[in-house]
Amino acid sequence: MPVMKDEAVALRRIDYSETSQVLLFLTRGHGPRRLLAKGIKRGTKQKFATGIDLLEHGRVVFAVRASGESGLGNLTEWRQIDLYTGLRSDLHRLYAAQYAAEVTAAMVEEADPHPELFDALVGFLKALVSGGEPLGLLADYQATLLASTGLWPDLTRCLLCNRPAPPGRAGYFSATQGGLICRDCINRVAEKCKVSGLVLDALRRRAFSLESAPGAFELLDYTIAHMLGRRPGLSRFIRGQVR
Ligand SMILES: [Zn+2]
Repeated sequence: MPVMKDEAVALRRIDYSETSQVLLFLTRGHGPRRLLAKGIKRGTKQKFATGIDLLEHGRVVFAVRASGESGLGNLTEWRQIDLYTGLRSDLHRLYAAQYAAEVTAAMVEEADPHPELFDALVGFLKALVSGGEPLGLLADYQATLLASTGLWPDLTRCLLCNRPAPPGRAGYFSATQGGLICRDCINRVAEKCKVSGLVLDALRRRAFSLESAPGAFELLDYTIAHMLGRRPGLSRFIRGQVR
């Protein structure tokens, strides 16, 4: 069994038995990995004194059946780098971080490496803990996730007739079409929503203010929900805070 070393963030934890955990990690160089951590909850005599927490960041050693293969691997070593404890004391920040973990787990294919996304996730968690504005940081992470997975919408032109979309102006967005649709073409599209010029400009520049972040989050959540075929479970908690 090939052994791999990497950095990882825990995206999801599934209780497996009294003493073990199955965790889904985003690793930096080997993509999302499901790893069985045997005896991890057993306590003092083991390498792992306690279980690994959601969103915990560390150095991982794991074994897989064949190199590059997906499927359940074995976690053999875990050294914590950061627990981001500051997240636990602020519900807004915790929900934002949990949302990022949820959509990352849902959107990125197992064993498909995205180092830039891993770096963005760690940067996002660090910025959340150091007091950055949660919704703007989250919108920026959503944008990175969509760009990394090749699903970033085209906000520069009408996708049906190619007419350029001028900055500063409101527009119609269609997740099915993957971007903007102009006023002349909009009747040909069933699934659409109207987006303000402020939000569209913020998304184009990838710079989010207190005013533009709620609308940007909403539109990117809508796009992600379209890709997944359902709203992410945590999106209602984030949207509940916005209103
Ligand atoms: Zn058009």
